[in-house]
Amino acid sequence: MTGTSKKRKFNFRALPLYIIFTAAILFFIVKLVNIQITGTDRYIKTMALTREREVAVQSLRGEIFDRNGTPLVKNEYTEDVMLDYQSLPTDQTELNETLSRIAAVITQSGRQVNTVMPVTGVYPHIAYDNEELSTQTAKNRMYRFLLYHNIRSDVGCLELYEQLLEDFGLLDGEGEHIYDPDTEDVIVRLRYSLDSTDFAPDNPYKIVGDTDLKLATAVLESGCRGVYIKKNYTRVICVPGVGSNVIGRVGKIPADRVGEYLAKGYSYDAVVGLSGAEAAFEDILRGEDGVTVYVEDTYGNVISSYVKKEPVPGKNIYLTIDIELQAEAERVLGEQIRKVAAAGRASGMEDNGEKADSGALTVLSAKTGQVLALASYPTYDLSTFSEDYASLAADPAKPLFDRCLSGTYQPGSTFKLATTIAALMSGTITTDTRIYDSWKYTYYSDYQPTCWRAGGHGELDLIDAIGVSCNYYFYEVGRLTGIETMNRYCRMLGLGDYTGVELPENKGVLASPEYKESMNKTWVPGDTLQAAIGQSDNSFNPLQLSSYIAAAVNGGTRYKATVLLKTCNYSGGEEQFNAPQVLGTAEISQTAVSAVKRGMKRSKELTSTTKYYQFPIGSKTGTAQTSKTNNNAVLVAFAPYDDPEITLSCVIENGASGVNAAAPVLNTISYYFGLDANGNPLPENKD
Ligand SMILES: [Zn+2]
Repeated sequence: MTGTSKKRKFNFRALPLYIIFTAAILFFIVKLVNIQITGTDRYIKTMALTREREVAVQSLRGEIFDRNGTPLVKNEYTEDVMLDYQSLPTDQTELNETLSRIAAVITQSGRQVNTVMPVTGVYPHIAYDNEELSTQTAKNRMYRFLLYHNIRSDVGCLELYEQLLEDFGLLDGEGEHIYDPDTEDVIVRLRYSLDSTDFAPDNPYKIVGDTDLKLATAVLESGCRGVYIKKNYTRVICVPGVGSNVIGRVGKIPADRVGEYLAKGYSYDAVVGLSGAEAAFEDILRGEDGVTVYVEDTYGNVISSYVKKEPVPGKNIYLTIDIELQAEAERVLGEQIRKVAAAGRASGMEDNGEKADSGALTVLSAKTGQVLALASYPTYDLSTFSEDYASLAADPAKPLFDRCLSGTYQPGSTFKLATTIAALMSGTITTDTRIYDSWKYTYYSDYQPTCWRAGGHGELDLIDAIGVSCNYYFYEVGRLTGIETMNRYCRMLGLGDYTGVELPENKGVLASPEYKESMNKTWVPGDTLQAAIGQSDNSFNPLQLSSYIAAAVNGGTRYKATVLLKTCNYSGGEEQFNAPQVLGTAEISQTAVSAVKRGMKRSKELTSTTKYYQFPIGSKTGTAQTSKTNNNAVLVAFAPYDDPEITLSCVIENGASGVNAAAPVLNTISYYFGLDANGNPLPENKD
């Protein structure tokens, strides 16, 4: 019976255990079902023991090429090794150990660990770095650090360091150093850096930047907690100092535009286009940022990671600019401006070009509106922009100002071609209309302007009048045509209007009674005479001059100016061409087109600097008065004569006379068509 009683007793006492055991089996069965069938158990478990951290993955920005595929802006990739606040150990000893191990990997690769502690030397031979401490940032960090660690603000350097050895747990119970001097130093400096730079969950610390993949991988493989890799790219300017005004810059979002960008889904630290094509084509170049999620245990160890959203790279763009032509245009423009200034100084005369210090040269396709070159002088180098910024901004010659698009200039006599078109098209004159230039224009008794040539040009027809740039002829033609009719044609040619180019431009002013009224002045008959020769309020940007000549010589098609040739995928496929767009069609008869071309050919033949040029072109000078004594040199041209392919404009500020703007235009035409300086074909290459 003992056995029975024992057994009963046993059974009786075992009942609660039995229930627990059964429950446990049931639990494991449920668990098994969950794992094997629904798979939710692991999820529930990890929800309790892990957390997920989202890290933005910057998308690649599209790269920029010229029309021939020459790279202008490329991406260069680097990796930053970051310390993450939430996953670094909180235990002092563990933290020191982790930091020392990460630092060791970095140092072994030949790189230095980023630290900001303003202390020089090696303990105990140390001193404050007073140069570093003279900066406000270093001062602020120090102040914050001392406050945080409850250390008096006038603490000496050695005293501080020894205090930190103790506070940071770098001494053992006997006060002996735990680490070797180098390791100890890097731990002190790193911990000072973390505690003084707002290291926080949303503010990781870059322990080493711009590393290669090898070092980044080595750090990750060291198995240290609290570290992750941030991929970066930097924009690399491939042809430094050329086309900077067209290509433009990228940078952090300007403080006053943060709201606007955030609304479009940008992150605070996004890199955006700030000027030139980088800004104009932001929506094409910009990709979409991705998100990677890191799953970590409670100790901050990364258990796994997954891509929540793949980044989408931006598209590459090909500009219409030919970077070699652009370089040549910039070179010859700068050379000519320096030459004009030197000749002006040598002449000993005043207002004879000695003040020439800036200008613009534009090259436009007359058949598509594609901009081939936009040279603005002086200019700057995008690759050293940040370092040069202070001096560039302070330079009175304003190298950051794009004179091709933002500068507006009086066209002077280059405007006479527009007057010609209006007068011919309205039937006011014919190409045979002869007018006698007696120097002083006496139609009005109270306003009698004169021709530029003393004694006048005598009797002229239209082509000769353009050729010699007779003012008298165009006073009379302007008066007969009237300002309203003149402007109707000027508007068709795009004068005083945007060229349509994607970069910021100043559209200038087409002189008119309405404009003068808006300035609270009254239009008088004399204004029409001045407007007809390109003075009065007329003022246009240089690209607009090229664009107007293009419409005049191509038969009236006003193409939208563009700097975008095509876009394609980041990997190179799916090209999308930017087809030429027509902004308007000017009413120009073949007779009028021919008159403009013949007039410009005559002008080319009668102008000292252009008459020896052998290649068939048309050109027209303009000397635009900017003040009583100063003149800008202006020249417009097209080439070749029979079937105009390109139009050009050049302005040299304070360049004294229009002829001074000829050389850079001729040189650029020669470069474009592969000719020598005189416009003759280059000798055949025997190779
Ligand atoms: Zn004259």
